[in-house]
Parts: sequence; C-alpha cells; structure tokens
Amino acid sequence: MSTPHDTDVIVVGAGFAGVTAARELHRQGHRVLVLEARDRIGGRTWTDTRLGRDLEMGGTWVHWVQPHTWAELTRYGIGVTPSPTPVRGHWISGGTRHTGTAEDLLGLIDRGMAGSTAEALEYFPQPYRPLLAGDRLPEVDGLTVREKLEQLDLGPEEFDAVEGMWATNFSGRTEDGGYAQGLRWCALAGGSWQLMFEACATYKVVGGTRGLIEAMAADAGVEVRLDARVTAVAQDDGGATVTLTDGTALTAASVVVTLPLDVLDSVTFDPPLSEGKRRAAHQGQASQGVKVWARLRGEHEPFVALAPGSAPLTLCQVEHVGDGETLVVAFGPVSERLDGTDRAAVQEALRAWLPDVEVLEVASHDWVADELSGETWPMQRAGQLTGALAELQRPEGRVVLAGSDYADGWAGFIDGAIESGLRAGRVVHELLTSVEELPAPTALTRS
Ligand SMILES: Cc1cc2nc3c(=O)[nH]c(=O)nc-3n(C[C@H](O)[C@H](O)[C@H](O)COP(=O)(O)OP(=O)(O)OC[C@H]3O[C@@H](n4cnc5c(N)ncnc54)[C@H](O)[C@@H]3O)c2cc1C
Repeated sequence: MSTPHDTDVIVVGAGFAGVTAARELHRQGHRVLVLEARDRIGGRTWTDTRLGRDLEMGGTWVHWVQPHTWAELTRYGIGVTPSPTPVRGHWISGGTRHTGTAEDLLGLIDRGMAGSTAEALEYFPQPYRPLLAGDRLPEVDGLTVREKLEQLDLGPEEFDAVEGMWATNFSGRTEDGGYAQGLRWCALAGGSWQLMFEACATYKVVGGTRGLIEAMAADAGVEVRLDARVTAVAQDDGGATVTLTDGTALTAASVVVTLPLDVLDSVTFDPPLSEGKRRAAHQGQASQGVKVWARLRGEHEPFVALAPGSAPLTLCQVEHVGDGETLVVAFGPVSERLDGTDRAAVQEALRAWLPDVEVLEVASHDWVADELSGETWPMQRAGQLTGALAELQRPEGRVVLAGSDYADGWAGFIDGAIESGLRAGRVVHELLTSVEELPAPTALTRS
C-alpha cells in the first residue's frame, strides 16, 4: 500500500518488539522506518564486550517453553547453551549464612515456591489469555507477592529464601510485585515452578542475543535509523507525525511505539494517550533492580545463592569457571541499593554469601537510571493486570503500543516482546488495509 506520507509505518524503538513489528509489516508490503534512540539495536538486550568476553548486560536466558522466542531461534538456526549446573547452595536467613548443596537450597524453597504458584493454572488456564478468569481475577491481582507469601505457613528460613527468589524474579520489591504476574509466569511453564525457574535462568543464546536480533533485523529488510530519539507523536485524521530531538518531522499512516512503560511519558502524544495508559505509565513497573557481572579470584564450584529481598543482591549464580577465576552473575531488587559498577560495593554484597571472596572486576548497566528504559525486565505491580493491560494494548487511532511490557504471555521476557511485536504488526496491517478512513483518534482515547 502506498500513502502520501514519508513512509507507511514508523516503528519507535529497535528492541525485539520493534524489530519484529517492522519485519512483519515489511513482509505485508508496507514501507517501514524504524527510529531508535540508542546507537545500537536490541534495547534491553545488549551483548557487550566486558570483562574480556561477550556478556549479556540485559536479557539473557531463553527456553523452548517460550514459543515466540523459540520459533525465531529455529527460523534463524541459532542454538542454545546451558549455564553451569549449580552444585553448592548458599543462603542468608535472619542475618545468618547457611551453606549446603544446591539440592538443599532447592529443597528449602520447594514448599514456598509450590505454595505461591499453586493457583497458577486455576487463574491462568490459558496463559496467553491472561484475563480469561474474568471476575475472579481482581481479588487475586490485588495481592502483592509478599502478601501471598505471608499467607503461607513458612518457617523463617524458608520465608527468607523464597522471598529472595521472588524479589529476584520481579527484579524488585516483593511489596510491589503483583502476585498474579508470578502466577502467569508459572502457568506459562505448565504450573511447574521448577520449569519456570529453568526457563528463567538456564539456557543462553549461542553467540548472544545480539546474533538473534541482528538476524531478525537483517531479515526485516527495513531502514533502522540509529541515534534517532523521538520526542513527539501527533496524529489526526490525515496521518501521524513523529518528531525527533533534532526537530526532524516524519509522517506516516501509523506508528508503533515500543517504549517501556516507565518511559512512555518521555514522548509527548497529541492527542494525549488515554487516561488509563497515562496512569499506568505514571505508576510504572515493579522492576527497579540491578544485574551485575563479577570476576572472582579462584575457581569456585558452581553455586547458586539466595538472600532475602532486603539485601543488595538476592541471587547469584556461576556462569563460567576457568583460568583460576570464576565469573558470576547476580541480581538485586533495588538498583539504588547497589552501584553495580563499584567493585568494592559488589564485593561487600557478595561476601554475605562468600566471606572471603575477592572480586577482581565488575560490569553492570543501570537500566533503571537509563532514560530509554527506566526499568529492568517488565514486571507488573499488584492490580496492573486487571487495571491496565487491556487498556495498554488498545490501539489509539493510528498509534499502537508494543513491547514486552504489553504482552499477554511471557511479559518480562524476550518472548513477550516478540509476541507483542507480532500482534502490533497484525493490528497495524489491518488498520492500514481494512479501514479506508481511520477513526478519529479522539473517539478512541476515552479510557
Ligand atoms: C537486566 C535484564 C535482564 C533480563 N533478563 C532476561 C532474560 O534472561 N530472558 C528474557 O527473555 N528476557 C530478559 N529480560 C527482558 C528482555 O530483555 C526484555 O523484556 C525485552 O528485551 C524487551 O524488548 P522490547 O522491545 O519490549 O523493549 P526494549 O528492548 O526496551 O526496546 C525499546 C526500544 O525503544 C528505544 N527507545 C526508547 N525511547 C525511545 C525514543 N524516545 N525514541 C526512539 N527510541 C526509543 C530503546 O532504546 C529500545 O531500544 C531482561 C531485561 C533486563 C533489563
């Protein structure tokens, strides 16, 4: 289809959602331009050379229970490789350090993880239809994951370990994290918390996530303009205009906006987004954490470590051992608590588990302070599933939101970004082909 505009569709953002939407729309015969504020594609996935090797600063692990990601890996012939299987387990409870086998630690969290996910299939029998349970959802969606844990009959040691696990999963405080989001994750793993855990942190993309996004972008065959930060998106009956920081104005028949929820309000929309969307953006995601890589002196037996959500780091696991060193990756729920680029601070945090550990070098990117993300992996707060998701997914005239933040299924993962990008591609194609005159945006923006 051809329009009087500069292009048919402008996609704002070249993360997995944006690149997927661009590819799908180009395949449907539309002219597509992608505008990306960073000097690279990939968004919250970023395979960067740090600590002498290629490290994932953002999204890392993938799994075959994530159907959209797996389909892309199959399409481009890209394999996965496992992280080392942990042998040792370390955990903090009541300020005391415990150590044992990884099996001991998994045994310790079993009751709490099973109890906090037991209702997964009841509320999410078809997890890609997350609102299917209808009127029964708001009550369960109103709970935070911490409130749910407090309802379970857990001993203090169990509670601390399980709470640390959920603080890690949410990349945030369990006081903020929506219990329903945890259930949705587990339902996507068939109701098994162990499979959910495996899906979250076991298999990495061979060659890094960079290889996958580059394969998708090359296949998309559209122009991706880097260092092109969008400041405004305006639309009227005639089309949409997208303005960049340098004042450039580009027109299109439709715009796909893939900004993470926490930075959605960094772009001015005219007419404004609906009140429901603005409210959700103002509230933001629960995920305000930090991911840290550290080179440790000495070869440690592969371990997994957990600490309660009040700690600077709540989970640590070994990613590589060799040449007299150990490479670990660790997560904390509140980025403000720990500067992941401060070697001494990271060493102190790791010493809660390994009192003699010597940290040689660290690497981290602060996604929360990053004004193009404002959050780590998207995780809903209590109430946001029933209160915001459907509204965030609803197109506003010519403007459609896409991204892992707005996914039905694995929201918080690469899979959710691809799923959402596919949906946006379909919705925009329908808008451009089936509607002769698009409805005036104001008619659609009432919340
Ligand atoms: C630390 C961390 C660990 C993670 N671990 C995993 C994991 O192990 N497995 C997994 O599957 N997922 C993981 N994720 C989540 C996964 O990376 C994301 O869900 C996914 O990459 C989001 O893709 P997206 O396209 O929705 O958003 P993004 O990747 O955030 O893409 C949005 C794009 O929009 C651009 N943008 C923003 N503002 C503007 C603007 N004004 N103008 C133009 N462009 C703009 C951004 O630069 C960005 O490129 C992790 C994320 C983080 C941060």
